[in-house]
Amino acid sequence: MNESFIPENHPRAESLKIREKLVKYFKIGVVVPEGLIAHGRGEAFDYILGEKTITPALDAIKAAAATLLLANYPVISVNGNVAALVANEIVNLAKITNSKIEVNLFNRTLEREIIIQKVLKEAGAEEVLGVGNNASAKIPELSSERRRVDPNGILKADVVLVPLEDGDRTEALVKMGKIVIAIDLNPLSRTSKSANITIVDNVVRAIPKLIDEVSKLRFESKEKLQQIVKNFDNKKNLNLCIGRIIEYLSNQAKVV
Ligand code: ATP
Ligand code: MG
Repeated sequence: MNESFIPENHPRAESLKIREKLVKYFKIGVVVPEGLIAHGRGEAFDYILGEKTITPALDAIKAAAATLLLANYPVISVNGNVAALVANEIVNLAKITNSKIEVNLFNRTLEREIIIQKVLKEAGAEEVLGVGNNASAKIPELSSERRRVDPNGILKADVVLVPLEDGDRTEALVKMGKIVIAIDLNPLSRTSKSANITIVDNVVRAIPKLIDEVSKLRFESKEKLQQIVKNFDNKKNLNLCIGRIIEYLSNQAKVV
């Protein structure tokens, strides 16, 4: 099915377009089959969040923007699904926050690293870390290829943005003393629970909103930004997100 065959008035048009994009990038080796399945789990959570950015997510986006602006060495970690869905936006976000971009794959192969680098460069990235032998450092506690990171990127970072990450790796990054900002539609995942700031939203909505928020806050004082970060409580925020799911489901139960 081609993207153009999705009728605009289809109730799931947006969701279907995202699927088609992932399939397209799956065919060229950017996305792996596991990535398609992971997206499906995300879609289910998006469904019961009403497929929109909820207010607790907006609060998390504000805290994330302030954290990125306060960072000394922020790094944005990119996997196959992120490259397929929001490559242009990631490049813009990196530019306005002075962040490095690093390819960081759960299923790492040189071929995939190179093609993801290509997608990011085509989207305007000047430098892409974590490709091939550059990913020579290791995250302690993780096994195999999943632990490789770039010594000039995630290893050195004080703040790491992980739009879509696995729980083990999020926990390991937090243990290394990094401030971790995650984007995850599932407020119950280990990633969501272990990150310092979790944005419970779809990456396709969250990254553009994060760019807007950084643009709004970029000239604020350090004190004001620190206050925003201090006022944010991830556990409370996740509880609010779960509350929103419960509310959405009980409203649905009334109409069925
Ligand atoms: P964890 O490893 O954190 O405990 P998990 O093992 O349940 O979580 P993974 O398979 O590691 O989950 O990652 C898939 C998760 O990624 C999905 O459950 C979903 O929440 C999240 N996800 C997938 N696609 C998107 C998307 N487009 N936007 C935001 N989150 C997404
Ligand atoms: Mg996982």
